[in-house]
Amino acid sequence: MRLRAALRDAVVEVGGTAAAEQIDCGFSYGGAVTVARNAAQLARLERAAEKEQAWGDDVRVLDAAQAREHARAEGVLGGTYSPDAAVLDPLRLVRGLADVVQARGARVHERTRVRRVSPGAVVTDHGTVRTPRVVRAAGAWTCRLSGSRDVAPLVSTFVATEPLPEFVWAQLGFAAHETVLDARRLHVRVRRSDDGRLVAGGPAVPDLGVVERTGDPVGRLHRALTDLFPVLADVRLTHRWDAPLGLRRDGRPAVGYDADDGLAWIEGVGDDAAVANLAGRTVAALVAGTDDPLVHLPWVGHRSAAWEPEPVRTAGLVASRLADAWADRVDRWTAQRAARAGR
Ligand SMILES: Cc1cc2nc3c(=O)[nH]c(=O)nc-3n(C[C@H](O)[C@H](O)[C@H](O)COP(=O)(O)OP(=O)(O)OC[C@H]3O[C@@H](n4cnc5c(N)ncnc54)[C@H](O)[C@@H]3O)c2cc1C
Repeated sequence: MRLRAALRDAVVEVGGTAAAEQIDCGFSYGGAVTVARNAAQLARLERAAEKEQAWGDDVRVLDAAQAREHARAEGVLGGTYSPDAAVLDPLRLVRGLADVVQARGARVHERTRVRRVSPGAVVTDHGTVRTPRVVRAAGAWTCRLSGSRDVAPLVSTFVATEPLPEFVWAQLGFAAHETVLDARRLHVRVRRSDDGRLVAGGPAVPDLGVVERTGDPVGRLHRALTDLFPVLADVRLTHRWDAPLGLRRDGRPAVGYDADDGLAWIEGVGDDAAVANLAGRTVAALVAGTDDPLVHLPWVGHRSAAWEPEPVRTAGLVASRLADAWADRVDRWTAQRAARAGR
């Protein structure tokens, strides 16, 4: 419960820091809405809300009309809402933060590939940096640096539409710049950018290096989007990219620091800037040796089992995604059959 409270606070912290440092990253504290479009999804959301409330999260169950106030998705039966979420542009945030720390004397070396991290030294393409403390925070690329099987690289495909006129936004909702998720297991996340585009991300899938050729992720995302919001059928997708993220075997992010060898690490942060922020502040306190309440949170030093060796790891991840897709289809067919029987 302490960790979840700290994560909720981290959302405020990110927005507060961006405001205090005058970083224009499109931060908007609009909350998160998950919409259910069949009975099985709604039941699952209600069960999840109950659990999250027991953990101290502010999650409210919405009826269809309340859910549609946030997102006018097709066929919405209900949903859940949590105020503890924000949207931002992570690239503008990270560039702004880099400017701030450099103005305070830090040195940032971009385009410098780290080959190896070891106690007291970081070996890069351009030479070796000697330092008493090293923080490894390489996201999806962690395994390449740690040489272990602690983190699996996944990738989530994103698209952005052309800027949409206000009359289209009036049909979509998103008035408070909410993050909107659909309640399928292989969900789509949708948000409004501060330049009026709709940005959508698909589920994280194993990075096979062949996403482009085999999966048609953009086509799938486009179909899911127009299914949710038919008004988008003729809207142009002007941008697409793949966002890499690292997943630990138990799905939980963690941080740690070994004072003897001076190595700190952040693993499995995934796709949440608030988690990344809390991880960064926690590691800062660990490395500085301050007795901050953050260093006593339960994710500090938490070890997960290693992933299975390849190709078992990727086969397992692909199988679990296929099982999710199948279960989503069963939910939909069951709802269609119930609707036909009720007619
Ligand atoms: C389009 C988009 C929108 C998003 N919107 C939101 C949002 O609204 N709210 C939110 O909370 N989150 C959002 N996110 C997620 C957010 O960007 C991530 O949570 C955050 O970037 C994770 O930070 P990280 O430092 O853990 O990992 P990363 O940002 O992945 O950083 C890891 C870094 O390590 C570097 N690296 C790895 N290996 C090496 C090496 N060998 N040598 C040198 N450098 C290396 C990489 O280049 C990278 O810069 C969004 C992400 C995307 C893509």
